[in-house]
Amino acid sequence: MDFTVHEKMQAVIGMMAEFIEKELIPLEPEFLTKDFKAMLPELAEKRRMVKQMELWAPNHPKEFGGMGLDLMDHALVSEVLGRSPLGHYIFGCQAPDAGNIEILHKYGTEKQQKKYLKPLVDGDIRSCFSMTEVELPGSNPVMMDTTAAKDGNDYVINGQKWYSSSADGSAFAIVMAVTNPEAAPHLRASMIIVPTDTPGFNLVRNISVMGHAGSDYFSHGEILYQSCRVPQENLLGPEGFGFVIAQERLGPGRIHHCMRWIGICHRVFDLMCARASQRIISPDRKTLSTQQIIQSWIAESAADIQAARLMTLHAAWKIENLGVKEAREDIALIKFFVANVMQNVIDRALQVHGGLGMTDDTIISFFYRHERAARIYDGPDEVHKMSVARRILKGYSGR
Ligand SMILES: Cc1cc2nc3c(=O)[nH]c(=O)nc-3n(C[C@H](O)[C@H](O)[C@H](O)COP(=O)(O)OP(=O)(O)OC[C@H]3O[C@@H](n4cnc5c(N)ncnc54)[C@H](O)[C@@H]3O)c2cc1C
Repeated sequence: MDFTVHEKMQAVIGMMAEFIEKELIPLEPEFLTKDFKAMLPELAEKRRMVKQMELWAPNHPKEFGGMGLDLMDHALVSEVLGRSPLGHYIFGCQAPDAGNIEILHKYGTEKQQKKYLKPLVDGDIRSCFSMTEVELPGSNPVMMDTTAAKDGNDYVINGQKWYSSSADGSAFAIVMAVTNPEAAPHLRASMIIVPTDTPGFNLVRNISVMGHAGSDYFSHGEILYQSCRVPQENLLGPEGFGFVIAQERLGPGRIHHCMRWIGICHRVFDLMCARASQRIISPDRKTLSTQQIIQSWIAESAADIQAARLMTLHAAWKIENLGVKEAREDIALIKFFVANVMQNVIDRALQVHGGLGMTDDTIISFFYRHERAARIYDGPDEVHKMSVARRILKGYSGR
């Protein structure tokens, strides 16, 4: 197996890494203490710089203004951008827009693509994905209360969603709603594009998550759809295909997330090693790094990160070469494995920093708070473990 990264990608990754180091990491102290909305003008300037360097929208289609990188190459990009919480946003490949772009590209009509896809890839607007409901289990989203009833040429949407990430400031939501209540469970729901200025689209609040409600892109909205009326031409893909399209959206999305998490691992690993090498812990000027327990954490973290990285790249290779369906088990494996590796590495890095790790003087506490969710969104650990185990055990039944 060849692990060589080709020359063009080495150059791309090198430029991105330098930009993160010089332009984004210095912004992080402000990011940690200031309202995100207040930083928008400053961040728009960084986005302009990225566009000038021709590094904008790395994974998005060329014909819509992206770089058109394939999944393997974008996996490497996602890793390097993951070093800063601002990375993906500044380079125009942030979730949930990235997933929405993918499905608008594949299923959008010409009119939808012109109105929503083009400005989304250009970074002129943002979007959100509105599936999870307050009252029903997101782990089993076929249980869904939100309805879209046909009335004349329109759909009228009613329901309560939450965790519609980045809804605040979005131009539109892609909403999952039941359009065909009599169909089989997996064919009941559809995806519908809802502009956020439609009467009846009510952003109730940005949910406070681990002490922060956030704003604009860095937020998670609760939304009440109250007789929210949109034309039927806003249906995305065939009616009843909501879950089919959602599954497609999740496959490559998990590679992007896992590689971003590995980028986070690299960042906090560097901080952990630097701190351990510098922190003096005894009068004879011994540093923390001389202690075997710390060395053990460092070695274990290095091995965990390498294992997680190779598993993810292999899953990406399988998606590219054999398709999402063939790679289903690999995708489930990386989803829980990499999320847990990241959580452990962040935790060790925080512990090595002692009291400093708890403060917002380093980026570690931000990752500790906000990346805990990785074990929950896109399917909690338990659901992925059970689905993998069931498939494995099938091969043993009747032996
Ligand atoms: C930061 C963040 C961002 C998110 N962004 C979005 C978004 O943009 N759009 C969107 O639509 N949703 C989003 N979500 C929602 C997310 O997809 C759901 O939270 C997730 O699917 C879990 O659903 P739930 O919260 O309803 O938990 P539940 O389904 O109630 O599950 C609760 C817990 O029960 C356990 N569990 C569930 N099912 C099983 C089972 N079968 N066997 C064993 N244990 C089980 C798991 O431990 C799980 O964590 C986001 C969530 C978070 C935290």
